[in-house]
Amino acid sequence: TPKQMLELNDLIRAMHPLIAAEANMRRIGIRLLLDSDVPPLLLNDKEIKQLILNLTRNAVEAMDDGGVLTVETRFDGEAGEARMIVSDTGPGIPPQTLERLFEPFFTTKERGTGLGLTVCLSIVDNHGGRIDIRSEEGKGTDFIVTLKAEAADS
Ligand code: ADP
Ligand code: MG
Repeated sequence: TPKQMLELNDLIRAMHPLIAAEANMRRIGIRLLLDSDVPPLLLNDKEIKQLILNLTRNAVEAMDDGGVLTVETRFDGEAGEARMIVSDTGPGIPPQTLERLFEPFFTTKERGTGLGLTVCLSIVDNHGGRIDIRSEEGKGTDFIVTLKAEAADS
């Protein structure tokens, strides 16, 4: 399916009810901090929704004792880059797990598929972007997706 000029914030808002339903079951709060300066981006609607779902689901699954899930967007006009940051207040990711995160079938969960992040990486690659991870044990994890904003006529 083709990419179209879409509002990243709209795709996040569209996924909000589903994310909220999964978070509520675990008494997890959700914060959306959406930067209205993020311009329309060339996005595949289904893929970006899948990306949002995979990252937020991992965040929710990391917090089995309550916590806060934050989905934030930011626009860096100088770099021409939009960012989506999915943060949790879970246990963080130990270094030996960090190394293997994007390996197909790598999971630390009893019923995990280990494919969520593999799919995320291929989606972000397909959009010419990147994923960075900031994690602090005992504090939580941020998954940072960076997407290039292109001129609409380029
Ligand atoms: P799955 O969720 O099926 O295990 P993923 O590819 O989505 O597969 O994630 C792989 C592994 O990365 C998880 O099993 C978990 O160990 C780790 N992980 C991913 N996101 C987080 C997170 N937000 N906090 C802690 N660990 C995480
Ligand atoms: Mg997953």
